[in-house]
Amino acid sequence: MFCFRCGNEFDDGANFCPKCGLISSTGKIAIAKAKKVDTKPRVSRVGRPFSYIGFGMSLGALLATSLLFSVLQAYQNSHNAADAIIYAFWFIMLFIIAYALDGVSLAFSIIGLKKSNKKAFAIAGFVISIVAIVLGLLCICFLPTNS
Ligand SMILES: [Zn+2]
Repeated sequence: MFCFRCGNEFDDGANFCPKCGLISSTGKIAIAKAKKVDTKPRVSRVGRPFSYIGFGMSLGALLATSLLFSVLQAYQNSHNAADAIIYAFWFIMLFIIAYALDGVSLAFSIIGLKKSNKKAFAIAGFVISIVAIVLGLLCICFLPTNS
C-alpha cells in the first residue's frame, strides 16, 4: 500500500510506514484489537469486589438469620419478663441486621453478576441471600403468639 502522508510504498501487512512512521490501516486494526483485549479484563476486575462483598455479606446475613432462631428459642424458654424483653430486643435487632445485609448482598451480587468475571461468587451470594430471606420469613412464622 501507499502511505497517506508521504506516498512511500510499503508492505500491506506493515502497521507503520517505515519512512515517516504514520499508522497504516492494518496498524489501526491491530491497535483496535489490542484495546478490545485490554478493556475486557479491566471491566471484570472493576466488578470483582462486588461479587466478593455480595458473597461475604450474604454469609453475614445467613449467620444473623441462624442466630435469630436461637434468640427465638431463648425467648420462648425465658421464665421472666426481664429476660423476655432482652431476647425480644435482640430478635428485632438481629432481624433488622439480617435483612439489611440481605438487601446489600443481593444488590452487590446482582452488580457482580453483570460486571464481574467472578460470577460463581456473585451467584453464591445471590442464592445465599435468598436462602437467608426465606429463613428469616420462616422464623417470623414461628413467632410465639399470646393466645
Ligand atoms: Zn509515510
